[in-house]
Amino acid sequence: MLQVYNTYSLEKEDFVPQEAGKITMYLCGPTVYNYIHIGNARSAVAFDTIRRYLEWRGFEVNFVSNFTDLGDKVIAQGEKEGLTEQEVADKYAAAFAADTRQLNIKPATSRPRATEYMEEMVAFVERLLDQGQAYEVNGNVYFSTKKFKNYTALSHQNMEQLEENAAGRLGEEDQEDKHDPTDFALWKSESRPDVVAWPSPWGLGRPGWHLECSVMNDQLLGETIDIHAGGIDLTFPHHTNELAQSESYHHRQFVRYWLHNGFVNVNDEKMSKSLGNFVTIHDLLKTDIDPQGLRFFLAKTNYRRAISYSPDRLDQTQGELDRLYRTYQGLLSAKGIAAAGQVSQQVQNQVAELEEAFIEAMDDDFNTENAVTVIFDLATFANKVQNQDNATQGDLECLANRLQTWLGIFGIEQLTKEIVLTSEQEALLAERAAARAAKDFQTSDAIRDQLLITGLVVRDSPQGQTWELN
Ligand SMILES: [Zn+2]
Repeated sequence: MLQVYNTYSLEKEDFVPQEAGKITMYLCGPTVYNYIHIGNARSAVAFDTIRRYLEWRGFEVNFVSNFTDLGDKVIAQGEKEGLTEQEVADKYAAAFAADTRQLNIKPATSRPRATEYMEEMVAFVERLLDQGQAYEVNGNVYFSTKKFKNYTALSHQNMEQLEENAAGRLGEEDQEDKHDPTDFALWKSESRPDVVAWPSPWGLGRPGWHLECSVMNDQLLGETIDIHAGGIDLTFPHHTNELAQSESYHHRQFVRYWLHNGFVNVNDEKMSKSLGNFVTIHDLLKTDIDPQGLRFFLAKTNYRRAISYSPDRLDQTQGELDRLYRTYQGLLSAKGIAAAGQVSQQVQNQVAELEEAFIEAMDDDFNTENAVTVIFDLATFANKVQNQDNATQGDLECLANRLQTWLGIFGIEQLTKEIVLTSEQEALLAERAAARAAKDFQTSDAIRDQLLITGLVVRDSPQGQTWELN
C-alpha cells in the first residue's frame, strides 16, 4: 500500500485518491523573473520523479503547475532589463522550459499563467467578500484569518506567535489598513502609471500571490485535489493562505495530501543572495556536466530531506551513475553475442524479488534512497549474470529492461552512447578476434592495449569479445 507523508497530519497516511486510478496533482511553479536555481530544480525533479512512479504504478496523473507571471519581482526585473512585464515573463518561462527539458522533467498536463485567470480571480474575491470572509480598504481586499477556523492547521504554528510576528511588521506597506495583523491581501491596488494593472470592482490592481494558486486549482483540478506539492518553505504563508481561501470559498476539503520537499544547501550553507552562493541551473548546464547526473543527484535523496550540493558531491553521484551506464551497456553488448533463449528461472526469481523491494521502497513515501540501493543490487546481479557462460539473450534483455525501467522512473532515460567505431578500431577488433581464435593470446592482449588507447575497453567472454567506451 502506497503511503505518503502528509504535512497536514504530520503522519504517513495510506494514499487513496478521490477517484480510483486517477490523481489530481498541483505543484506551485516559479515566478518567472529569473533563471531557476538548484532549489527550484530540486522541487521540479522530486515531484516529477513522484509523478513518474505514480504513473508506472498505473495511475493517470493530471499534473498542473503554474507560472506566476506578475508581481513585484517581475516588475523590478523588467526595470532592470528594460523589458515589459510580459517580456520578462516570456523570457524566463522559456528559460524554465529549456532548463527543465535538459533535466528530463515531463511537461505538465497544464501550465497555466496567473494573468490568464484575472476574471476568475476577481470573481473569487467577490464571493469571499459576499461571504463576509474578506473586507476592502482603500482598493485593497484582505482575508480575515480569524474568521477561518484552523488557520494554522497546515503550518502547525501557534496563532499568538504569528500575531506577534505580524504585529512586528506593522507600519510596513499596507499593514495599517488591516483589521488584524495576520490578515493577508487577496487584491492589491496599483496606482503606479507604468505598471500593468487589472480592473476590478475595487479599482485597478492585481491579485495576491496566494490567490493565483487557489483559483488555478479550482479552475483546472476542481474543489478538492489529491496532492498539493511544493517546497517546505511554502507551507507558510503561501499554502496556509491557499488553504484558507479555498476552503472558505467551497466549504469543503481543499487538499487530501500535502507533500513538501526539503531545502538544497550549497557547500553546507543555506543558499542565499546575500551569501552569493546561488547556483542556477542555467549556469550549471553551461558547464560540461551530464544533465542526467544532476538529475540523479537531485532525485536520489528522499524528497523530504535537505540536500547539500557541492561540485564534489555531484561528481561522486556522476561516478555512481556511470557505473550503472556501464552495466547497461555491458548487458547490451553481451546480449549481442549470447545464445538465444528464454529468461532463466534464476534471473526471473531474482528480478521479481528486487522489484518487490523497489516497490516497497517507493511505496514508503517515495523512499528514493532505498530504491537506489535496489537499483545497485540489480546492477551487481546483472554484472554477475553477464559474465556467466550460460547467460541467454532472454536473461540479459530482462535485466537491461528492469534497469532501464527503474532508472526511467528517476528520469534517467539515455543509458547508452552510440559507439561509432573508427576504421582503425574495426580493423584492430577483427585482428584481435583472429588472434584469439588462433589462441595467440600475446597478440590479442597487445591489441587490447592498443584499443584502450583509442578509447575502447574490450572484454572477453566464452562467446567472443565485447567492447564499450572507456
Ligand atoms: Zn502556489
